[in-house]
Amino acid sequence: MSIQKCPLCGRNDSNRAEVLADAPDEYTCKACGRFFVSENFLRRKGNFAAVLYALSAVSREAMEHDLAPPTITEDTVADLIAGRLPVNIADQARRLLRIIASRSSYLGAVTQFAKDTDYTLAFAQNPEEFRYLFAYLRDEGWIRYAEAQSPLTAVMTPKGWEELQQAHSADPSNPKVFVAMSFDETMIDTWEQAISPAIEETGYKAVRIDKKAHNNLIDNEIIAEIRESRFVVADFTGQRAGVYFEAGFARGLGLQVVHSCRSDDTNNLHFDANHYNYIKWSTLKELREQLTLRIRATIGKGPLRNDELSEEAGL
Ligand SMILES: [Zn+2]
Repeated sequence: MSIQKCPLCGRNDSNRAEVLADAPDEYTCKACGRFFVSENFLRRKGNFAAVLYALSAVSREAMEHDLAPPTITEDTVADLIAGRLPVNIADQARRLLRIIASRSSYLGAVTQFAKDTDYTLAFAQNPEEFRYLFAYLRDEGWIRYAEAQSPLTAVMTPKGWEELQQAHSADPSNPKVFVAMSFDETMIDTWEQAISPAIEETGYKAVRIDKKAHNNLIDNEIIAEIRESRFVVADFTGQRAGVYFEAGFARGLGLQVVHSCRSDDTNNLHFDANHYNYIKWSTLKELREQLTLRIRATIGKGPLRNDELSEEAGL
C-alpha cells in the first residue's frame, strides 16, 4: 500500500495497492471507493476528463452495494457509465433523496454526509454541486437540512417521503414487488412454486431479500426495497417478526399489502394483524391461483405482462 493521489477525484489520500506489472492498479479512495485502473487509461486520462466524476460515482455506488469494484480501462469507460448518468437535475436530486431515505432507519432520523467524500454518492461533480443538490431538496420541501454544519445533516420531511412514494407506487412502469415471508427451508417451494410465479404472471417482478444472518428488524436495504416497490406481498406462515414489521412498514407508507397465510397457521396470527383479508391457502397451487386473482383484482396487471402469452396460458 502506498498513499497516492486518486486518479479519479484527485484526493491526495487514496491507497494504491502494490500490484504486478501489467495488471491494473488497485485504488481505494474515501470518495470513489475501490476500483482498478489500467495504465493505458491513466496515460490518456485527459481524454476522459469530462466523465471522471461519473467514474467516481459508479465506483462508489458499486462499493455501497457490495458489488465487485469496476475495472477502468479505455475500453470499459463507455460501458461503465452507459445509462448511469442522471438525465437532468430533477433526476439527480431524486437520486439523492432516495439515498437519504435509504439511510433513514426511522421517520425523522438525522442522516449525515461528509461533503468532501460523499458527493460521489449523488453523481455530483464536486462538493459544491453536492451542497447545491441538498439546497434543491430543501427548496422543494423534501428535506430539512442544516447547511452550516459539517458533516451535512438532512432529515426527510413528510413531503419528501410522499415524493418518493408517489414516484414508486404510482409509477405504472415500476414492476417491483417486495415479498415478505419466512426464509425457513420448508418455505422454499412456497416462494418458487407459488408466490414468485403468481407475481410474474401478473406482470411484476418479485423481490425478496434473503438474509439468513439478519437479526436487525430495521434493515436499511429492506427498507429501501420496500420504499421502491409498487406493492408488497406478505405471507405470514411461520409467524416471523420480520414479516409483521415489513408489512406494517409498507402499510404505513400507504402501499397496498396482499396478505396470505397457510390455513393451518391462521390461528396463530397476531391479534392486531388478524383482521386483514388473508388469502388462506392449503396447497401451493391454491396459493398461486388465489394470489394471481387477488393481485389482478386489487392492483391490476403490471408492466411486464405479455397479454398474448398470458391468454394462451389461460390466465
Ligand atoms: Zn477518489
